[in-house]
Amino acid sequence: MPDQDRTRPTDLPDAPVIVWFRADLRLRDNGALSAAAASGRPVIALFVLDETGASGRPPGGAQRWWLHHSLTALGSALGGIGLTLILRRGDPRAVLDDIINRTGAQSVVWNRRYGPEAIALDSEIKASLADRGLTVKSFAGALMHEPTKLKTGSGGYYKVYSPFWRAFIGEGEPRRPDPAPGTATAYDGTIESDDLADWDLLPTGPDWSGGIAATWTPGEKGAHERLKAFCADALADYGRKRDLPGVDGTSRLSPHLAFGEITPSDIWYAAAAAEGVAKKQLEKFHKELAWREFSYHLLVNFPDLRTANFNDTFDAFPWEGSEDALEAWHKGRTGYPIVDAGMRQLWQTGWMHNRVRMITASFLIKHLMIDWRRGEDWFWDTLVDGDPASNAASWQWVAGSGADAAPYFRIFNPILQGEKFDPDGAYVRRFVPELSDLPDKYIHKPWEAPRKVLEKAKVSLGSTYPEPMVEHKRARERALDAYNEMRGQA
Ligand code: FAD
Repeated sequence: MPDQDRTRPTDLPDAPVIVWFRADLRLRDNGALSAAAASGRPVIALFVLDETGASGRPPGGAQRWWLHHSLTALGSALGGIGLTLILRRGDPRAVLDDIINRTGAQSVVWNRRYGPEAIALDSEIKASLADRGLTVKSFAGALMHEPTKLKTGSGGYYKVYSPFWRAFIGEGEPRRPDPAPGTATAYDGTIESDDLADWDLLPTGPDWSGGIAATWTPGEKGAHERLKAFCADALADYGRKRDLPGVDGTSRLSPHLAFGEITPSDIWYAAAAAEGVAKKQLEKFHKELAWREFSYHLLVNFPDLRTANFNDTFDAFPWEGSEDALEAWHKGRTGYPIVDAGMRQLWQTGWMHNRVRMITASFLIKHLMIDWRRGEDWFWDTLVDGDPASNAASWQWVAGSGADAAPYFRIFNPILQGEKFDPDGAYVRRFVPELSDLPDKYIHKPWEAPRKVLEKAKVSLGSTYPEPMVEHKRARERALDAYNEMRGQA
C-alpha cells in the first residue's frame, strides 16, 4: 500500500463504502448492505472469488455451479436497487486494496462468517484497514446467535446438543430479520469487473449439471419461494415426514442457507408464523435449525473439526477400506439399494436426504472401514449445500468420533433402515431404476428374491445390479473388532 493511502483524510462524506459479499448472496436481512445503503455514501458491491484458500476450503464442483447462478441472481437483484455487482478473482486482501486505492473508499462492511480460515483472514483485514484509517464494520446474519457467546456454566463450550438447545433458547428470540434496502447510491466511477463466464464455474466436458439444474433455483428469490412452499405444504407434518426420503417432507433450504441467500432468522420466523402448524412440529423444525447453529458452535471452538477426530481415541482406528470400495460407494454401486439410491441422488441432484446421509456415511465408515474424512471430502465436492460446520460435525457424529456422537458400535443396518424409512421403496425406485419392478418385499434386499421374481423384474444380480459388496453381518463384526482393537490401544 503506497504511503499516501495511510495519510488519506478520513470521513469524506462522499467517499464510497464497499460491501464485500461472501456467503451472504442476498438483499434481505443483510446488515452490511442495509448499513451501506443507509449511510448515503456511494456503494460498491463486491464479490471476490478466492481460490487461494485464504478464506477457507474452495467450493466443490456442485457449489461452483450454484455460485455461478447465485451470483447472476444477486447481480440482477442489486441492479433493482441501482447497484452493480463487481466481480473479482484473487486474494481478497489484494483485491480490496486495489479497489480502495482506485476509488478512495473509506469504509468496508461485511457480514460475519465462521470458518476458521475466514475468521483469521477477516480479522487480519480488519486490523490492516483500521491501521490505515479505514472504518470496518461487520454484521450478524449467518447464524441466529453468535456461536462464541453461548457458554456452559463453567465457561466452556457445549459438546452435547440438548444443553446447547436449552442455552440457545435461553438466549431469547433470534434477531429479527431486516427488510431489503429499497434503494442505494451507486458509486459512479468505473471499476473493472470480471466476466462471470470467465470464471469457469459451470462444468463442461462433461456437463454433469442437468439433474442439479432441474432440481434447484439458486438465488434469494428461489430461497423464499421454497420457504413459502415448505411452510404451506410440509411443515405441519414435518415431525413425521422428515425421516422419509421418498416424500418431500423437509425444507430443502440447506443450499440457500449455505450461500446466505436466506438467513436462519428469516426461516425461523416464517415457520413460526405459518398457519395450522402444531407447536410440536414447529419445535422439531426449529430444533433442526439449531443443529446447524450447534455445528458452528463446535467449529468455532474446535477449528480442526474437518481434519482431526474430536475424540482423539479415534486416531488409532485401523481404517482399511480400498480405493475400489470407495469408488463403488461414490458411484452408488455397493449392492445395498438404500445406500446406492442415496449416492445417486447426491450425484444427480447435488443433495441427499438427511436420513440417507446418515445411512450412506455409516456404510462407508463401518461397512467399508473407510476413514470418515474421505467421505466428508466427497460430500464437499458433490453437495450443493456443503457447509464447513455441518458437514464435518455430521461426519464425525456418524463416525462416533465427534462431540455428542452416535456411539461407534451402533451400526446402521442398511436393509432395516431401508424397510423402515422407505417402506414402499419409492425412493429406491426413483434413483435405482434398474430395481424399480421388484416387489416391495425385496426392494431393499434383492439378493433374497427368488430367481423367478428377479427374472420378472428384469434384475440380474452381478450384471444389471451389483451383488452386495460386503455381507452385513460380517461387516458389522469386522467393524466392532476394529473398534475394540482401537479401544485396546487407547
Ligand atoms: P430440513 O430438515 O428442512 O432442516 C432445515 C435446516 O436445518 C437445514 O437446511 C439445515 O440448515 C438445518 N439442519 C437440519 N438437520 C441438520 C443437521 N443434522 N445438522 C446440521 N444442520 C441441520 N447439512 C448441510 O447444510 N451441509 C452439509 O454439508 C451437511 N453434511 C452432512 C453430512 C452428513 C454425513 C450428515 C448425516 C448430515 C449432513 N448435513 C449437512 C445435515 C443435514 O443432512 C442437512 O442439513 C439436511 O439434510 C438439509 O436438508 P433440508 O434443508 O431439507 O433440512
